[in-house]
Amino acid sequence: MSNVIRGIGQLATCPITGGQDHIGIIEGAALVQQQGRVVWVGKDNDLPAEFQSLDALDAQGALVVPGLIDCHTHLCFGGWRGDEFEMRIQGQSYQAIAAAGGGIRSTVAATRNTSQDDLTAKASAALAQIIQLGVTTLECKSGYGLSVEHELKQLCVYQSLQQSQPIELVPTFLGAHIVPPEYSEQRDVYVRLICDTMLPQIAEEKLAEFCDVYIDTGAFSLDEGKQILSRAKALGLGLKAHAEQLSYTGAAAMAASLGAASLEHLEYLDHSDLQTIQQAGSVAVSLPFASLYLRERYLDCRSLIEQGIPVAVATDFNPGSAPSYQLPMAMTLACLNQQMTPAEVLKACTIHAAKALQREQRIGSLLPGFQADLAIINAPTVNHWMYHLQSNACVGVMKNGNWVHQV
Ligand SMILES: [Zn+2]
Repeated sequence: MSNVIRGIGQLATCPITGGQDHIGIIEGAALVQQQGRVVWVGKDNDLPAEFQSLDALDAQGALVVPGLIDCHTHLCFGGWRGDEFEMRIQGQSYQAIAAAGGGIRSTVAATRNTSQDDLTAKASAALAQIIQLGVTTLECKSGYGLSVEHELKQLCVYQSLQQSQPIELVPTFLGAHIVPPEYSEQRDVYVRLICDTMLPQIAEEKLAEFCDVYIDTGAFSLDEGKQILSRAKALGLGLKAHAEQLSYTGAAAMAASLGAASLEHLEYLDHSDLQTIQQAGSVAVSLPFASLYLRERYLDCRSLIEQGIPVAVATDFNPGSAPSYQLPMAMTLACLNQQMTPAEVLKACTIHAAKALQREQRIGSLLPGFQADLAIINAPTVNHWMYHLQSNACVGVMKNGNWVHQV
């Protein structure tokens, strides 16, 4: 299968090179894909003769970007928590709600009580909406099972969804999300269960590519997180950490020192850790929905970017602190509340998000050789797209050379 997209108003190649704002814009562009790979991109006027007779789609002046990558979601969960939304509006803190048995604990109970088939159907319905937004790759965490049986159930949901729908899923094991209630007096026993039983089985069955840990007040300690990430690393899993979200613990520097692919949240990061993170090459994943819904501080992206740390933006889709998978809205929030330019945000949701998932050699860019994953956006420019925030500006999605959504 080969085809050419012509009449592109603006195309962003999003190379890994250059700074956060270097998105490789080509005005008046065309793009050729063959067998799911980009083989040529450039000015429409320069399209080589050998591609002139290919099946062509006229983009009619639209914007073309690499398929968006949501590199941090908690896609599979039972129930919702709309009641807590009201409690938080009335002034109760996320921690106070959690201490009273709400928060993540209530989603753990709901997820344990939902069958694998029902969880699959619910996540599948979300993915059917998500692809229409231009998202072609999505990271998805476990972490609402918190037992061998139910963590594996969540990861098996992702395994089956990978076969039944076109979005590439990147499964992450987050057994260290919170200590489940039945282990609250025996935290060390739960940490051993993760290290000695869950992680070896997940690595053996290749049910997850990454291991994530949530290190914060009310979750795991720095030392517990380090034990878990060290074990995951020894088993060959990639590493991530929810770090410095609601307080500073030193988790970001610890995980970076272990070679973490990405560090999530970082709203309370201490600037003295910037150099460690930069030298480790970890991606900082910014999650503006969580700041919006928790009415917490936003990530100080400017200091990260100035330090040369690649920044990604993701939704953190989950039923508590970020109950939306609208990545384009998270992108506009990153512009408005994190002082990132639209170009910087586009790079954050393409090649930098690919780097957070250790896929920056294959996806996240439209340079020749990359997988033909792209979105056609009904906007004349990247700036206009994020500024206007239409209900859905995406009018076409190609995944691996195949059209998977067309308006
Ligand atoms: Zn998260």
